[in-house]
Amino acid sequence: MKNLSNMNFTKSFDRARNTVKGCLFTAMGLCVLGLVINESLPDAAKYVTIAAVVLIVIGCALVALCLKCPYCGRQIISKCLTVTSCPHCKRNLTTGMKTKGKKR
Ligand SMILES: [Zn+2]
Repeated sequence: MKNLSNMNFTKSFDRARNTVKGCLFTAMGLCVLGLVINESLPDAAKYVTIAAVVLIVIGCALVALCLKCPYCGRQIISKCLTVTSCPHCKRNLTTGMKTKGKKR
């Protein structure tokens, strides 16, 4: 954590995005688990659901706080899990290369 400001920004974007993916993926798994055990273990299912909600909240908070373009500093919310280049300054988020004015 202490090297965060010195770190390559693109790596931190990738890492934040992977963390978000992990959170949401785990949350989905917990939701399914909650549904599966709801019949036999309703109490445990309750905690599983709470954990899933917490993970989703953490995931959303990470998106809001950490998923910013390393070049122009704007937040990238839409399609943040799949986007490869910044919608604002058009730079590639992994390589930093400017995408040449191609609109798709
Ligand atoms: Zn940008």
